[in-house]
Formats: sequence, C-alpha cells, structure tokens
Amino acid sequence: MKRETIAIHVGYCGDPTTKAVAVPIYQTIAFEFDSAEHGAALFNLEVEGNIYTRIGNPTNAVLEKRVAALESGVDALSVSSGMAAIHYAIANIVELGTNIVSTPQLYGATYTFLTHILAKQGVTTRFPESDHPDAIEKLIDENTRAVFCESVGNPAGNVADIEGLARVAHKHGVPLIVDNTIATPILLRPIEYGADVVVHSMTKFMGGHGTTLGGMIVDGGHFPWGDYPDRYYMMVRPEPAYHGVVYTEHYGASAFVARCRTVCQRNTGATLSPFNAFLLLQGVETLALRIERHVENARKVAEYLRGHPGVEWVNYAGFPDNPLYPMAQKYLGSKRCSLLTFGVKGGFEAGTKCFNALRLFKRMVNMGDAKSLACHPASTTHRQLTPEEQEKVGVTPEMIRLSVGIEHIDDILDDLTHALAKATN
Ligand SMILES: *Cc1c(COP(=O)(O)O)cnc(C)c1O
Repeated sequence: MKRETIAIHVGYCGDPTTKAVAVPIYQTIAFEFDSAEHGAALFNLEVEGNIYTRIGNPTNAVLEKRVAALESGVDALSVSSGMAAIHYAIANIVELGTNIVSTPQLYGATYTFLTHILAKQGVTTRFPESDHPDAIEKLIDENTRAVFCESVGNPAGNVADIEGLARVAHKHGVPLIVDNTIATPILLRPIEYGADVVVHSMTKFMGGHGTTLGGMIVDGGHFPWGDYPDRYYMMVRPEPAYHGVVYTEHYGASAFVARCRTVCQRNTGATLSPFNAFLLLQGVETLALRIERHVENARKVAEYLRGHPGVEWVNYAGFPDNPLYPMAQKYLGSKRCSLLTFGVKGGFEAGTKCFNALRLFKRMVNMGDAKSLACHPASTTHRQLTPEEQEKVGVTPEMIRLSVGIEHIDDILDDLTHALAKATN
C-alpha cells in the first residue's frame, strides 16, 4: 500500500461484534480474563491480548500499527506526548554513567530534558559544534548508548544527514534515534535511511488540528542488540522488571519498543488516552493531503517574503542558494517542510511589530496545525536558554517562525502583506 492508503486502513479490520467502520474508542481501563489460567497466560506473554490500558489499549493499538507502517517500522508504542516518547526511547537503554551524542539544534524541551534533567540522573549528552557525522563520531565513546537527532530541526529547518549519522552510530555499535515530528513519514522516513528508532510528537502535523497531545516511538527492527550484550543487556538478558522475559528472544525485531511498553510505560505511566488516540487517528487519515497543501503554501510564502523589500532574510531550505538546500534535496526531494523562519528589516523591534500585527496567523508556540501559526522563539519556546544556548540551537532575537497552514494562499499572503506594512511603515 502507498502512504495515503496506509494512513486510512492499516491496523483496523473492523470490529467483529459491532461491525463499526470507524475505529471504536475503547474507553476502558481493564480487560476481562476468561479464567485464572487465561489471566496467567496473558501475564506470561503466552497468549496475545489486553490486560490494562497503561500497558496497551485496542484503540491505541490501531494508531500504533498505522504509524509503524507509515514509518516503515515493525512496531510502535503510543504515549501521552512527544516529550514522553523522547524520554522513554532514551530511558529504555541508558543508565548512570552512560551518554548520548546529539546534533546541537533541537526542540527547546528536548534540549532542556537532555542537558538539565537527564544530566542530573547521571546520563550526559554531548553536543558537537556542527551536525556533521564526523563531528558526531568524534564524541562517541564506549559509554555512548545512542546518537540522537531531529530529521528536520525546529526552528532552523536544517535537515540531518540521517544516512551519515546512522553509519557512524552503527560503526560504534549504537542505535540512531530520530525525532521525525516536523518531516512526518509523508516527506521522510528515517528508518529507510538507516535510523533504528523514530520518535514523534503526534501533537503537530500527525494530529494536525491543534487539539491533541500525543507521542509515538517506532521501532525500525534492525538494530542488532544481541551483538552488544554488555551494553544492551536489558534487551538480551532476563528482565527483572518484567518477570525475566528476554526481549530479543520473545519479541524479536520489536524488542526495543516492547521494552518501552512493558518497562518504561507500564511502570511510569505516560499512557495515551484512547480518546486522544481516536482524535489522532482522524488526523492521520488526512495527513498526506494536508502535507501536500502545507508544502505548497509554504513555498509560496517563502517566495513572497524573499521578494518583499521589508524582509531582511528568509531561511527556507527550498531556495537553491540556501546552505540547507543540498541536504534537503537529498532527503526531501522536491518537497520542503512548511516551517520557515524570517527576519524583518529593523531587527528585534520591527520583528516584534510585524509579529504583533498578524491577524490570520495565530501567535502561539505550536506548529503543524491546519491553521497558520507564528512564533517568536526568542521570547517563548527558547526563552529559558541563555543567548549562547539560543545561538547554539539556531535561534536569533529577530527571528519569526511560521508554520504555514492549509488556508487559501491569498488570505495567508494578505495577512503577511498587512503585517509587514505595519512593521516597516
Ligand atoms: C513539539 C515537539 C516535541 C514535543 O512534543 P509534545 O507532544 O509537545 O510533548 C518534540 N520534538 C519536536 C521536534 C517537537 O516539535
């Protein structure tokens, strides 16, 4: 099946009792056992079935299968937010004294999680000066447990060299974890370029309507955990936190995500509500169509801004003279993401004036909504970072980030014309 079809059909083949065509919301905590023996078999992983929604739920399972298929993965785990997905994907394989090597330009909360929260638990993150695979490789040592990157960085729009990063990670026997939130599997599938685990904030384009927080961890199924039994013992030796199961033996290719589910999620509980899984399923069904319009509108906005005399610079990876162009061309083909940044002439003050004069664009910190959104990263998402840290993650004081929506392009451009006129007088 093609992506457009997967997004609508995979994971659900009808409800046998009710014949419901839309995926039902199984708003239940627990599932009944036929007998003590059946319950015991479920707990022993001898038969498949549902036990308790903190471990798994049939509505969530449809979303998981669908996103796994969209990403060319083998299995997935849905969680309550993108940050929970990132947390579990890392917590699954690290411990005191180990480290992560990450590309430097990251979503604000991810950066804060890695540098402030994880570090206090004794797991450090190393950031090279550049996101070049060679720079990443230099920081990998025997205590490294994963390489982390965003396929498309927020807000700079930089596209990671996933193939190169996977190569250096695998050379040193560690997996590559990729946050694919901004690209979505419609534009880019990191697993097809060698990534081992893909994480998502379903909150953004996947849900697509700005209504529902959610996250996803997709297992690519290729990483040879068994080749590194001392490093990834939790994957290949009996697990004390789940009555001695050996993940690679019992779950095979989906060992990683199975452990995320039965150790991380089961015992810390960032479960996606089945109602939210249902809402996210509605979004995923139209993902391909929406992305097409997002991409087309963003290109028109970028071209318009570049031709505007009041605009100092436009960072859009679709311009051949943009330094991000070659990497974007390789991984996104002729398409580009609908996030772009620009600076109004007149610095911080003119930028703020333009931002404040927007009427159709909503001023907020979200992105990937059907609505056009604008954000001033320096005063919001990235304000808790020092100016040096801001620079490191690619944020400048006058920068306005647009998440171009799927409204009619004429209305979008009208709004920008008006706001720029106000800013530049
Ligand atoms: C929003 C976002 C997250 C966090 O997702 P939540 O669902 O808000 O927790 C992580 N990574 C990227 C790239 C994001 O844009």
